[in-house]
Amino acid sequence: MQLIDGKAIAQRINEQTRTAVAQLKSNGITPGLAVVVVGDDPASHAYVRSKERTAADLGMHSVKIEMPAATTQEQLLAEVHRFNADPAIHGILVQSPPPKHIDERAIVEALDPRKDVDGFHPVNVAKVAMGDPDAFVPCTPLGCQRLLIESGIETAGANVVVLGRSMIVGKPMAFLLMNKGRGGDATVTVAHSRTKNLAAVCAQADILIAAIGQPEFVKANFVREGAVVIDVGINRVTDRTSPKGSKLVGDVAFAEVAPKCRAITPVPGGVGPMTIAMLMHNTVLAAQRAGR
Ligand code: NDP
Repeated sequence: MQLIDGKAIAQRINEQTRTAVAQLKSNGITPGLAVVVVGDDPASHAYVRSKERTAADLGMHSVKIEMPAATTQEQLLAEVHRFNADPAIHGILVQSPPPKHIDERAIVEALDPRKDVDGFHPVNVAKVAMGDPDAFVPCTPLGCQRLLIESGIETAGANVVVLGRSMIVGKPMAFLLMNKGRGGDATVTVAHSRTKNLAAVCAQADILIAAIGQPEFVKANFVREGAVVIDVGINRVTDRTSPKGSKLVGDVAFAEVAPKCRAITPVPGGVGPMTIAMLMHNTVLAAQRAGR
């Protein structure tokens, strides 16, 4: 069984990004990333901190804006418009989820698609669906695809089951895998909460990608002997043995599933680090495209 070390792969990709940043800088362009977080959700703040820190560490211009929970739609839109117009900013990210009174879709649609490094703007969603190489691809599915490529796992002709159909992970993941080319050309099934005989459907997969947000839901009977399993889930559960009183687990019951697998990602240390590495990669792409 191969343990796919997302942390090590993400570090390698970040080093490539660091080189690309240095190259851009020598041409007078410093890639700039603006991250905006509204409200006081601790997980959102942790994600944003880590994105800002990584961008700065790789030599980028990195701006973090923290806005109070009472921020209005207009105030947040004004921030987005300001960054859209700022030539020093190539990538803009508004951390999800915003407080309930904010219309997240309107915020995403206000982004300049050329700065939408999260890949959530409808223009980029359409480009991903069309297999357009100019798309900004959402970072988590892009990271999963890259993990497969870097681990030498062939997707062409493979039966892949994507478990989950969100706009952030499941749907774009399915498009990437079915599109033509490297890391694609797969036969893709998308399963979700209305899927019948879910375990049997998943057990058909050569490659199973779990993104449902249900702790350790995928059990051994969901997985074919010799399958590859990519676990996107990040779930905090109670753990009395840990000093914190909690721990992170994936959507896959790792202990019982791993022995059946040809390869599997751990949680943490699998998909998570790749998401940030792909955000940095997308920001460099945005800066390169702006400089063209
Ligand atoms: P969403 O809640 O938006 O979507 C979950 C999807 O899973 C839905 O399509 C839902 O089906 C499906 N689902 C939920 N429960 C079941 C079930 N019991 N059986 C079958 N299908 C089910 O989640 P996200 O896609 O945003 O995130 C999924 C997971 O990935 C979460 O744990 C999240 O924390 C993690 N994540 C990790 C990231 C990383 O960087 N590693 C980044 C983003 C997310 P339906 O549509 O029918 O309701």
